Amino acid sequence: MTNEELVQKYPWLGIYDHNGNLNMEYTWLDQIPDGWRKAFGMALVEDIQRVLDQGGLEGFKLELIKEKYGELVIYTSVGNEELFRVLSAYRYISGRTCIDCGRFPVNVYDDGWMCPYCEEHKPSDSICRTSGAVQKSFVWREYGKDGEKEVTLDLRPYYKKIGFDTETEGDME
Ligand SMILES: [Zn+2]
Repeated sequence: MTNEELVQKYPWLGIYDHNGNLNMEYTWLDQIPDGWRKAFGMALVEDIQRVLDQGGLEGFKLELIKEKYGELVIYTSVGNEELFRVLSAYRYISGRTCIDCGRFPVNVYDDGWMCPYCEEHKPSDSICRTSGAVQKSFVWREYGKDGEKEVTLDLRPYYKKIGFDTETEGDME
């Protein structure tokens, strides 16, 4: 898909200059580091669009996409629980995806800067900071108008989208 086609289908991926002209050279998708974009960029875009199609997120805009502590962090103008789940899932997956080539799952290495790398791309003189399996799901506590509740996010449907077969590949916790 060309950038033009991409922005036609997903208008919120468009980057505009201060005169309101669409940048044809790059989109928000290009703000995602190469390996992560390759591994799950379009899956992430489709999942965000699926949430937007459900309605209720008028004025949705991407504010910032960046790598932070070895994970993909995305800030948006508005949000809801469903969007938060999607962004959290890819944040977790990014933390175990080689930021250079997209291999998954890989370890996190620390050379003063923590980032996930495959064996081939890990920086020399770095220390491995992860051990073992990727998680099937994770749980967090959410505080809303109904008080506190536990939310479980099943990661397996996301793994499937990035071509990682949870039945036959790798270790799962
Ligand atoms: Zn790699």
